[in-house]
Amino acid sequence: MITLIAAIPAISGCPGEFPIRAGKVLVITNDEEPLARTDPNYTTTLQVLWLGTACHHIQLGDAAVLTDPFFSYHDTADVAFGEIDSDVEMVRKKIEALPVARAIFIGHSHYDHMLDLPAAMRFPGWEDVPVYGSMTTRNILNGYGPDVVNRCEQVRTDEQWRPAGGASNDSLEYMAVLSEHAPQLGNTLLYPGKVEEPLTAVPDRADEFKVGETYAYFFKLSGNRESRVGSRREDIVFTVYFVGSASNGSEGLPESDLSVDVAILCVPGWRNVEGYPREVIQRLRPRHIILSHFDNFLEDHEGSRAVVASADLRDFLIEVQDAADYPEFKSIRLPAVDTIQHFKKPKVTRLSPQPDQAPTTQFSRDPKGSAFQQRRQKRLSHGNAEHVMELDSGSRADAGR
Ligand SMILES: [Zn+2]
Repeated sequence: MITLIAAIPAISGCPGEFPIRAGKVLVITNDEEPLARTDPNYTTTLQVLWLGTACHHIQLGDAAVLTDPFFSYHDTADVAFGEIDSDVEMVRKKIEALPVARAIFIGHSHYDHMLDLPAAMRFPGWEDVPVYGSMTTRNILNGYGPDVVNRCEQVRTDEQWRPAGGASNDSLEYMAVLSEHAPQLGNTLLYPGKVEEPLTAVPDRADEFKVGETYAYFFKLSGNRESRVGSRREDIVFTVYFVGSASNGSEGLPESDLSVDVAILCVPGWRNVEGYPREVIQRLRPRHIILSHFDNFLEDHEGSRAVVASADLRDFLIEVQDAADYPEFKSIRLPAVDTIQHFKKPKVTRLSPQPDQAPTTQFSRDPKGSAFQQRRQKRLSHGNAEHVMELDSGSRADAGR
């Protein structure tokens, strides 16, 4: 892998410049390949594939979830005045490369979050995958027929962890939290309200996909690995937060304290609410933050995509960077569509102390570990937290998938 690391000194607020805060590093790397099942890291590495808008395939070992399936991009005129439909060929290209998900989750019911849900649910191999969403999601699915609506479970927002999909060796749990949807245009929320009655035909206009109840989700994906100490199995648990729309302050956050490994944060609309993403980041203290939904989904072509106009991506990045001011923070990821990112648990091993040693030693097995720790300690003692900001240039997820 080619990695470019640029250590950029602090730039204090020059107009038009992008400030990199003191103690942070901008990293641009190339893509990650999907891990084969035979790979020793398969059950211990979280793989997050961004498929565009709020659609993510999140996988640990054989446990995977898919969020907000949407691949059939339409241009603005069709969305505003015309008809929109699910592009079967595009769905095939996207879905056939994916390991089958254990469950699909819908954050809200706008067309750019569920237009391709029925086609994904009917894709060969995916016919038994359950869907979790709102009453509105269910009522929209009714227009497509019983084979899909009967697999949609309305989520509860009582802050309980629940198993998703069928039982298996790898466990997958979710927790839904009521959230909200930022207005897209100033104070105006497009396609507001709920779908109160089951649709009786396939919807073909964007305004039939009303926002409905909006949820953020926590996912807990568990696997295990050989312990580095002895021959015991060691549990590996990743907690992932997903929010498909910007929301005010503490909306979309649970009452209880919870920290996460990875937070996937919707960018557009953040200017039209208060306290987002700062409060989410400071409450959940994610080690890694993935920016999402900033691609221009209002162009109906394939290939490289511009950033959607409403994203204000530069200032969002600055906000995220400022909010991520805690020791656990490791990186901000700005992926390209169809790229995979890998996440590992920190390589820290507790070793049994020697009889005459103080029982607090904790160090990395990395051969450079002790020198690294010393440098880090030195930096920390000079008041600079160890922060890494990564902008991944992205991979072709279709290569080898
Ligand atoms: Zn939306």
